[in-house]
Amino acid sequence: MALRIVIGLVLTAIAAVVAGRRLWWLYRLGRSGQPAPERIEAVRSHVGRDAEVQATEVFGQRKLLKWTVPGVAHALTFWGFIVLILTIIEAYGALFSKHFAIPLIGTWAWVGFGEDLFAVGVLVGIATFTVIRLRNNPEREGRASRFSGSHNGAAWLVLAGIFLVVATLLIYRGAQINTGDFPYPRGAFASQILGHWLHPAGSANAGIETTFILAQLAVILGFGIFVTYSKHLHIAIAPLNVLFSRRPNALGALEPMWSNGKVLDFEEADPDTDIFGLGKIEDLTWKGMLDLGTCTECGRCQSQCPAWATGKPLSPKMLILDLRDHAFAKAPYLLAGSDEAREALPDAVKAEAERPLVGDEAANGVIDPDVLWSCTNCGACVEECPVDIEHIDHIAGLRRHQVLIESAFPAEASTMLKNLENKGNPWGMGGDKRLEWISELDFEVPVVDGQIGDTEYLFWVGCAGALEDRAKKTTKAIAQLLHTAGVSFAVLGPAETCTGDPARRMGNEFVYSMLAQQNVETLNEAGLGQPGKKIVASCPHCFNTIANEYPQLGGNYEVIHHTQLLARLVSEGKLTPVNPIEEKITYHDPCFLGRHNRVFTPPREIMEQVPGVQAQEMHRCKERGFCCGAGGARMWMEERIGKRINTERIEEALGTDPDTISTGCPYCMVMLGDAIAAKKSSGEAKESLEVIDVAQLLVRSVATDPQASESEAQPPAV
Ligand code: SF4
Ligand code: SF4
Repeated sequence: MALRIVIGLVLTAIAAVVAGRRLWWLYRLGRSGQPAPERIEAVRSHVGRDAEVQATEVFGQRKLLKWTVPGVAHALTFWGFIVLILTIIEAYGALFSKHFAIPLIGTWAWVGFGEDLFAVGVLVGIATFTVIRLRNNPEREGRASRFSGSHNGAAWLVLAGIFLVVATLLIYRGAQINTGDFPYPRGAFASQILGHWLHPAGSANAGIETTFILAQLAVILGFGIFVTYSKHLHIAIAPLNVLFSRRPNALGALEPMWSNGKVLDFEEADPDTDIFGLGKIEDLTWKGMLDLGTCTECGRCQSQCPAWATGKPLSPKMLILDLRDHAFAKAPYLLAGSDEAREALPDAVKAEAERPLVGDEAANGVIDPDVLWSCTNCGACVEECPVDIEHIDHIAGLRRHQVLIESAFPAEASTMLKNLENKGNPWGMGGDKRLEWISELDFEVPVVDGQIGDTEYLFWVGCAGALEDRAKKTTKAIAQLLHTAGVSFAVLGPAETCTGDPARRMGNEFVYSMLAQQNVETLNEAGLGQPGKKIVASCPHCFNTIANEYPQLGGNYEVIHHTQLLARLVSEGKLTPVNPIEEKITYHDPCFLGRHNRVFTPPREIMEQVPGVQAQEMHRCKERGFCCGAGGARMWMEERIGKRINTERIEEALGTDPDTISTGCPYCMVMLGDAIAAKKSSGEAKESLEVIDVAQLLVRSVATDPQASESEAQPPAV
């Protein structure tokens, strides 16, 4: 007895020292990041919400369960380990007393049953993981495997470790039944089976009991140490990462540029002391560092990433892992207390500290520029990540530093940035052109001159909607429908400039701030911040920027997307689709409308109301919608690597054999339209196939003359 106490306590002490040192090191590394006072404040001021998030996301495993089979397997393992805390207490108790039982509940049959039930649940969970990993073997599946690029050896070790935890547990409990030391008279069904099997061993059961109690503790303690050195660190820190993540998630708005715990003010910024994006790993906040340590390497993000799916070098998982490996390798440098200590570090550490965060192979960069600039900001990675890692924020931070400090970005995007600065739109057209579409309508559209007055809606047309030929058709359809429904609306005309979205998503926060401040001033002067005044935007990027990002600059407005307003007008009977459109139509979810802003239903409701329409969903739709390739300012960059993202999307759409593809975004219209044109010229798509906005579909059905074009549609007989 004394020996097993000594061995058990010595093992515990060793594990506590080894794991404790590692945790202290990780804590110091996290603390070497920049302050993030807004994250602490958000948690302090939303205690109820955060408790709910912990209950649903962590304990309830909500995001994991979106993938049913691996989700259930993970939930069984997670809940199993929580219940098995009781068995760890029992194992320690058994070191000191052969007849140990947890006070009060330690002999209740249902407690013994619960422990065994969850132990078996853990075995089912790891058996499922084994099958999943064998079926997704990256050596066989290559890029198609979500585990491609993960540390798979460590994952197998963890599965083996978990198996040993449960196996040693059930064996010592089985032996305890035979020695009479088992605290539960009934209920522990799995232990009883093991006891039955071990019964023939007779008096040897006493030795088996002692050996496997110690083995159980050794496995748990070894597992505990391994956790602190592996991706399974997420067991300890995922709840913290979830707690301090942006709510409801890191989609929608980009974060403002933080420097030393404050939002960077370009007018007062000091190039020597301020931080401009993510130029060194230590420019990450402690929350950013926490993100890196929390990644479970599950590859869910990678499996949904359009860049990865089309053969580009970007994988959101590997981006996080590369940053994490670099942070760990540079850690001795970051944690060295003085210049002398840094000087004394091994050359390999000093070389790691010198590596640029972004740079090609020749520059030995941590992240290749092709990785960085492949991102479309589609948000699929953030949506899928079960531990709330904020990939887009990291990508934006890296881009901001590249653009603002290094002036290093895809050359073809520089024209767009110049046009934004000089002309307020990406095409460099004159402001007067923004009114041309109005002259093609047969009714007046008021242009705001100063105040919006009694008008209810400001129609935010957007640069594409005003200047790009395909998008102009949508603009005219929306104006026609609003006019038909008797909605009072006006436009800004030449006073409207780009919201700044392409500049911001490129990383040029300076140009974004300039445009955004100008727009906020215009909108405030027009009275849009007042109760009852609303903005309807046709472009999801404008919608996202005005609704979610302008509040960072003091612009708080009620903003809706045109599909939301049109769906409401249809449901209120102010627009009545009457003309049948006998077509198979598949709807493409724009990322900045759907995933970023959760507007999934209104466009579909509109389609449902149009007689004759047979709506068919693509396999990847709604939360799992697949990007068109234009977001993240990719619209303004060449797509030189891999398959074109718009081609991939159109091929999926063609799989539904549609007559028409509908959407709700001018960027998507352009990208999908281009891909359709290419498919038509190769004979893979029928000549009549077109991509239209849902508003165009509606105006065709609402028009009394079904042959009328969008701009000629007449009010319906209602
Ligand atoms: S935002 Fe989209 S493109 Fe960018 S890394 Fe995430 S999934 Fe990939
Ligand atoms: S970033 Fe999130 S989704 Fe991607 S591998 Fe890591 S934990 Fe999984």
